[in-house]
Amino acid sequence: MATYQKILVAVDLSAESELVLKKAKLIAGPKADIHVVYVQEPMDNVYVGIVPQSAAFSGLGDLEAQLGEELKEKLAALGENFKLPSDRLHILHGSPANEIHRFAKENGSQLIVIGTHGQKGLQLLLGSTANSVLHGAACDVLSVRIGAAQ
Ligand code: AMP
Repeated sequence: MATYQKILVAVDLSAESELVLKKAKLIAGPKADIHVVYVQEPMDNVYVGIVPQSAAFSGLGDLEAQLGEELKEKLAALGENFKLPSDRLHILHGSPANEIHRFAKENGSQLIVIGTHGQKGLQLLLGSTANSVLHGAACDVLSVRIGAAQ
């Protein structure tokens, strides 16, 4: 069976990201192109519909930029651990599932690797990032079971 040559690994930059990336490396072909993607969600997404004029939003731009820098450092450290060049590390902005789908299409990804906590009950009904990515993906998706897979 041909191995995947273009792989998108979605990470949330938690400690679990190492496990997701490790699995992706295990199934990647020796010359595979691995891209690691983190999506930074806009902080006002949650509240702008409720308190659109809130003064708190005025400082959000700076806060988001500062957060973006710290996230970039975390992603760089993860990339270094896995010997990935910096042009394979991406911070995108928006909704995680939408951005992951868009990046996968634009870059011709053959496989998306994502972590999942194996949600049950209410969590499953409400959905998760893994569920949203799976539904609507134009390529294969590998969901790495976090916890059980360790
Ligand atoms: P969740 O269902 O939100 O707990 O996340 C499950 C998996 O979705 C994580 O292990 C990551 O693979 C991916 N994920 C969650 N949030 C993000 C994000 N902001 N950017 C990229 N991938 C994410």
